[in-house]
Amino acid sequence: MIRDASALNDLLERTRRFVREVAIPNEDRTEREDKVPDEAVAAMRALGAFGWSIPEAYGGSGLTTEELALAFLELSQASVAYRVVGATNAGIGSECLIRDGTDDQKARYLPRLASGELLGCLALTESEAGSDATALKTRAVHTGDGRYVLNGTKRYITLAPIAGLFTVFARTGEEARGAAGVTAFLVERGTPGLTTSGSTPKMGQEGAPIGEVYLNDCIVPASSILGGVPGQGFRTVMKALNKQRVNLSALSTGPAIRMLDEAVAYAREREQFGQPIGEFQLVQAMLAECKVAIEAARALILETARKRDRGEDVTMDVSICKYFSTEACGQVADKVVQIFGGQGYVKGRGIERFYRDVRAFRIYEGTSQIHLLNIGRRLVAGAP
Ligand SMILES: Cc1cc2nc3c(=O)[nH]c(=O)nc-3n(C[C@H](O)[C@H](O)[C@H](O)COP(=O)(O)OP(=O)(O)OC[C@H]3O[C@@H](n4cnc5c(N)ncnc54)[C@H](O)[C@@H]3O)c2cc1C
Repeated sequence: MIRDASALNDLLERTRRFVREVAIPNEDRTEREDKVPDEAVAAMRALGAFGWSIPEAYGGSGLTTEELALAFLELSQASVAYRVVGATNAGIGSECLIRDGTDDQKARYLPRLASGELLGCLALTESEAGSDATALKTRAVHTGDGRYVLNGTKRYITLAPIAGLFTVFARTGEEARGAAGVTAFLVERGTPGLTTSGSTPKMGQEGAPIGEVYLNDCIVPASSILGGVPGQGFRTVMKALNKQRVNLSALSTGPAIRMLDEAVAYAREREQFGQPIGEFQLVQAMLAECKVAIEAARALILETARKRDRGEDVTMDVSICKYFSTEACGQVADKVVQIFGGQGYVKGRGIERFYRDVRAFRIYEGTSQIHLLNIGRRLVAGAP
């Protein structure tokens, strides 16, 4: 749903300008320094990106799912680190709080998340709990005096080394596993007993750190339970991921659009056998396959976003969307490296960086296999 086309067009144009004038010129530096430059962070704050999805009442832009997808399709045409740092707050950094937080919790954190003063992260994954997130072992024990003691270790948490607010999932019930008895806690950096690792070395996405979160006798008041009611954590995170999977689909398609733009320009400029390689039909076929994948993903994302904005159940749609868009992006990355030949494999053009960066899309927020399982299970259960 688009509420005000002219305001949205203005936002999209300002985002394009940020990508063109600030983000792209700083991509090599971001990779080299493994840090998004402060001036780029400041520009994303001025753009309002941190609060795009946060309600206007709390200082955000309150974009609808469709508007947010359109904005993410633009922002993600720069290398992945920018949107991770600049827009995680408009996704998993705030979504649990928006869905199920109490009024007090929203008033306390959302304005600072919307401005980018505070970075949020979502700490679910553990060494034994990846795809099977319900196997998490982190425990929160009620002390009997209105407080909880948290113990456990989270890993691969986006922005953990630099985040200020952690949505931590811990087991408060007696069950040893399963979704029941899992509670979400809002824990601020500086709370005694919460520490984080440095940046975990990884294949790509330099500038977008992931890390571990250590909870060692971390004592928090019961008022830090997200929504105030224990045992609701899994329901909350599933609601948040339902939205986030549309976001991630858009964030996976922006890089594909950028890679194809670069490939078309290169195919026009690079000559072999006395003519531009773009004149060869086998190269045209690779370009065309990329274009088809991108336009199919875009249509699917926007249709799913509109469906969600209409209040329809999109549980299966978001799996289809996430699976298709992230797989499509991986195929585009592979073909674009091929079109660039050796220039696609060596450093310098940024193509190998995209190839590495986008590989994670098929792993996080539900692996491709988990989404296929979800779609298949629902079909067998009678979903249309
Ligand atoms: C860059 C990055 C950022 C991340 N950010 C966050 C974050 O911010 N917060 C957070 O909580 N987590 C985060 N994660 C963790 C991510 O969500 C997990 O890595 C993901 O859920 C997969 O879990 P796993 O790595 O343990 O793999 P596993 O679950 O061990 O999967 C290994 C393989 O087995 C397959 N598999 C597993 N179960 C089945 C099954 N039932 N049927 C068929 N195949 C199966 C998988 O598809 C995969 O191919 C991040 C990960 C990365 C790489």
